[in-house]
Amino acid sequence: MNEVVGIDLGTTNTVVGAFRNGVASALPDEDGRTLIPSVVSFHPNGSVLVGRPARDRRTIDPKSTVYSVKRLIGRSWDTEEVKRAHARLPFDMREGPGQAALIAVRGETYTLPEISAFVLRKARTVAESALGSSVERAVITVPANFNDLQRAATKVAARVAGLEVLRILNEPTAAALAYGYGKGTSERLAVYDFGGGTFDVTLLDLSNNVFEVLATAGNTFLGGDDIDLAIAERMADEALRQHRYDPREDPILFDRFRLAAEELKHRLSTEQAVTTVVREVTHGAGGKALDLTFTLTRRELEELAGPIVEQTFDTCRDALAVARLTVGDLDQVLLVGGSTRIPLVKRRVEEFFRRAGESHLSPDEVVAMGAAIQASALAGAERRKSAIPPPPAAARRASTEPGVGRGTLPGGGPRPPAEAGLGRLRLSSMVDAAESGPETKPFEPRQRLPTRPGLQPPARPPGPVPTTQPSGTLLGLGSRARVKTGAGLGPEAEAARADAEAPPPASFSAPSEPSETHVTPVVAAPEPSSALDEVTQRYRESSAEVPPTPWPGSIEGLPPNEVDPLLEPPRALDEAALPLPEIPDDVPTRVGSSPLSQAPPSSSRLRPAPSVLSVPAPLLSVPAPVLVDVTPLTLSVETVGGYCDALIGRNTPVPCDRTRTFVTAVDNQTTVRVRVGQGESARFGENTLLGELELSALRAAPRGKVEIAVTFALDTNGMLDVSARDLATGHATQAQLYLVGLPGARELEGLAARHAAQRTG
Ligand code: AMP
Repeated sequence: MNEVVGIDLGTTNTVVGAFRNGVASALPDEDGRTLIPSVVSFHPNGSVLVGRPARDRRTIDPKSTVYSVKRLIGRSWDTEEVKRAHARLPFDMREGPGQAALIAVRGETYTLPEISAFVLRKARTVAESALGSSVERAVITVPANFNDLQRAATKVAARVAGLEVLRILNEPTAAALAYGYGKGTSERLAVYDFGGGTFDVTLLDLSNNVFEVLATAGNTFLGGDDIDLAIAERMADEALRQHRYDPREDPILFDRFRLAAEELKHRLSTEQAVTTVVREVTHGAGGKALDLTFTLTRRELEELAGPIVEQTFDTCRDALAVARLTVGDLDQVLLVGGSTRIPLVKRRVEEFFRRAGESHLSPDEVVAMGAAIQASALAGAERRKSAIPPPPAAARRASTEPGVGRGTLPGGGPRPPAEAGLGRLRLSSMVDAAESGPETKPFEPRQRLPTRPGLQPPARPPGPVPTTQPSGTLLGLGSRARVKTGAGLGPEAEAARADAEAPPPASFSAPSEPSETHVTPVVAAPEPSSALDEVTQRYRESSAEVPPTPWPGSIEGLPPNEVDPLLEPPRALDEAALPLPEIPDDVPTRVGSSPLSQAPPSSSRLRPAPSVLSVPAPLLSVPAPVLVDVTPLTLSVETVGGYCDALIGRNTPVPCDRTRTFVTAVDNQTTVRVRVGQGESARFGENTLLGELELSALRAAPRGKVEIAVTFALDTNGMLDVSARDLATGHATQAQLYLVGLPGARELEGLAARHAAQRTG
């Protein structure tokens, strides 16, 4: 059997989860532990240790033990974050080709995705032993505010580890899924995710199994590590006072201080005062080793951590403002991430949101559980597409009765209380379908951008040889928006659309070229483009007063004529007259109200479920989760003078795309390059450079006579792709995206081969 899993690839710890027999759970290693430290240590004997044994080597062999890679992945060498980490972390870093940041250890260099790949491989091994089957596909989670490069680099890590990525899923969305999937309720949630290296807050509407993100905001450099650092600084001050030696002068010693600080912090979550001893801080008279004995009270910790914790609420205010909500509009606050175990954090969350944070699911495991649910849904959709022929009755019904589906949209009715006290998530059943089809295309990494700024020609993609003509200027002629969502968007999405529909700034050009301005915005009405959009749109238009609307006969990734009666509500099963599958005895059934019971009797296609279900779980249809996520950052292209032309605004629901029309500004211009970035600044250079779009083999013609429509599309993973077409001929134009610091296809193969050959422990 080939199982699918969900992996929460964390800064500090990684957790792998699976969804089996209606139960989502984090999978334990051979010692029963579900947290795999995201640490990789290169042993002198040539083996690579990962997880707990690697973490144990942090103090013994700090120069060969790599951690906190998630803070760096997808960031190029010249970024502030990498520079800061390089100065602070005990292991060595180097600049690689294309400004990639490399880890240098034991005479070898490794890319950041390669280091993460070791952790993913360990997660995969843990899963394979726990499940007793091979694991080749996974949903992998990332912080909601990860940009395109960080997502792409995470995907590269998975490929190096030999895993096919079913989906890159935002962590808070995964957490919400674990919390709300199958609950059958309508709630407005805040997911407060305070981990080791990052803080994220996401506001979502959960309505039955539709999870719609309203806003997300985050700080990629705010986490429990900052609290450890503040404690370690206090300890260093104390060492300086007691022994006249500053441990900050020795990064390896200071790292030991940080580890001791973290342990103090953990213990202070349950104790009021803790004393620690750091051995051999320095040497005194006669070479005598001097230790540091240090005591910290919870109160002192709270003084140190207070300003750090407060910063999380700035981000919360930001998210609330973006969604135009107040804390009073929220029904629930979900606590995610190890730092939410800190009593001060719990208390401040309660004060800020005016309600206690919900933490009945383990804050460490909840994300992996949600990812596992989504993995199972996506794998199920694929299995049905490829393996099961459409049963005639269902196919006929689907083709003759469009719009009749297998679930309900949100309706009114009382909200059942949250199921308390569950360490693991139990669901009645799972519909093996998802909001989008899995990626079945083979992985095709986008090309690496060798240098920036003052770009040199990137490695050439296959295809016609580009002309020798220098790149010139393309002037923005117009814009055409197609945000794939319907009416009734949240206010920020509306604002984002308004932004998107605003005329673009003066012009597009290669950075050095002077140019004229020709701007004619053309804005198309948004159009629902998939069954998912229709579902989303109907959901958005529905309210508590409006009776639930049946789902359409399919969702994206599961065409109508492939509707499987196993996905249908009980009545559909009667009609399909399928033989019942064998149901194992240990399959759990849900006791209590089913989501189906939310459907009013007037919905004639759906029979209300009894409140106690005795039907075997796999035959019950909890609708597939529909995830409506947003892009956390504005996508822009660079204009003349180093400004941004915003293409897709922050908080726009994904998938979405936007088409810009360009016109040549130089006679016989055949190539053009435009820089693409993500961020909120109006100045392009202050945002994150993703890379460069190259349009090549353009039709040779006098300037102004070639108009190229370029479509920038963000997929459900929040990742960018581009395509282009010559408006006059209607033919596709070569458009290639070169991303900063990512390996090309051939390089990736090499990395995967080297990785597979490495001995791990
Ligand atoms: P995550 O990134 O979600 O794995 O969270 C890791 C962060 O949670 C690290 O900064 C840990 O030090 C912190 N953490 C884990 N357990 C506790 C605890 N019991 N008390 C305080 N912080 C904790």
